[in-house]
Amino acid sequence: MALAGCTRQQPGGMAVDVIWSARYVVTEDAQRQVIENGAVAILGERIFDVGPRAEIDRKYAARTRMDQPNAILAPGLINTHTHAAMSLFRGVADDLKLQDWLEKYIFPAEAKNVDREFVRWGTRLGLLEMALSGTTTFADMYYFEETVAEETKKAGMRGVLGQTVIGFPAPDYKTPEAALAGTEVFLKAYADDPLIVPAVAPHAIYTTSDETLKASRALADRYGKPLIIHLAETKTEFDEALQKRKKTPAKTLSDLGVLSGWTLAAHAVWLDPADFGLLKATGTGIAHCPSSNMKLASGVAPVLKLLQTGVAVGLGTDGVAGSNNDVEMFEEMDLAAKLQKVTSGDPTALPAEQAFAMATVMGARALGMGNVIGSVETGKKADIISIRLDAPNAVPLYNVYSQLVYSLKASDVSDVMVNGKIIVRNRKMLNIDDQAVVAKAEEYRARIAKSLSGN
Ligand SMILES: [Zn+2]
Repeated sequence: MALAGCTRQQPGGMAVDVIWSARYVVTEDAQRQVIENGAVAILGERIFDVGPRAEIDRKYAARTRMDQPNAILAPGLINTHTHAAMSLFRGVADDLKLQDWLEKYIFPAEAKNVDREFVRWGTRLGLLEMALSGTTTFADMYYFEETVAEETKKAGMRGVLGQTVIGFPAPDYKTPEAALAGTEVFLKAYADDPLIVPAVAPHAIYTTSDETLKASRALADRYGKPLIIHLAETKTEFDEALQKRKKTPAKTLSDLGVLSGWTLAAHAVWLDPADFGLLKATGTGIAHCPSSNMKLASGVAPVLKLLQTGVAVGLGTDGVAGSNNDVEMFEEMDLAAKLQKVTSGDPTALPAEQAFAMATVMGARALGMGNVIGSVETGKKADIISIRLDAPNAVPLYNVYSQLVYSLKASDVSDVMVNGKIIVRNRKMLNIDDQAVVAKAEEYRARIAKSLSGN
């Protein structure tokens, strides 16, 4: 305990594991405080205290110090929609219509190549890229998700990991019933994990039967875990639902009861006026994926209206294969802000500060983890990144949010901590053999190209 009236540093200040100081600490707390010459005290897996560096130094004695006087400390970035293992398909087919891309390239490439080892190496590649670009948490949907979970834990990263349930034979399960049974085993295995939140991921309303959608919801609820789904991504999906069901995709899911619980929905590009209130009322979190929506010409998600309605909207990259060619959240922040400006004709729409919130604290809310991650605040999990300010694109600095969203790049990320442990130090991922992953990606390229050339 500090002695009253004592102004000297207490050599016996309370012991914490790490004191991490920087030129700015961007907290993303309720007041959106940015602390100049700030520091964070970390104990175990949590943030114990945040404040001006002088104050933190006076109160605590650290086992490890990290002083970065020319960097920003910020909450780790949250990628709310990925298919991490698809990284091995990076650039396999671009600039195509969605249907051609799926039918001529992605479905055949998946059918011929995706197995457990593919998912393992693809996930490693995705994790490596995400960690080095400042992402600490990602929400995933793919096959063999227990392998994604294994690799994510080994990497020391945080994941909300959805096992896909789909209405046709998949690389891991041949029927939706088998997929649901396998998902239940997965939910049990990771019921109480410090880094992994397992989830049920029915693909979409147009690939999964209504019965399977309902069974997915029931399964998620039975284990108190989230359901992840693609929602209203394309005009085709929207028009087909109106035609066949006489209601929108969002209303379809709501009427089936699928949104009545912990839910994360990706895209939400095509909504009608009644859908906004429905998403708000059900507490559905939205993953907005600007790169993917632009590249596939899916449309522009009504993000401003979702935010006005009070829906939690995070940012996502979507899969690295046609819909995006990287898992880089700095780009998504920049594009999210600019896409709303250009389509609304209003340069004040979605300012940098709001785009940064979507990549951090609001992304956490969209994942249903707003009490756990997303900000640098006492009691939150210590998921923190540092971004160097010495590159030409980093100076001069007038406004930290402008810098973070419009000029800083993934390559400016220096160090990354997840759950109180450093996983990237000075741009080196500590828990993944980067050379082995890069070599393996090239090996897979040859195999995948060969499998497609026989078509
Ligand atoms: Zn997707």
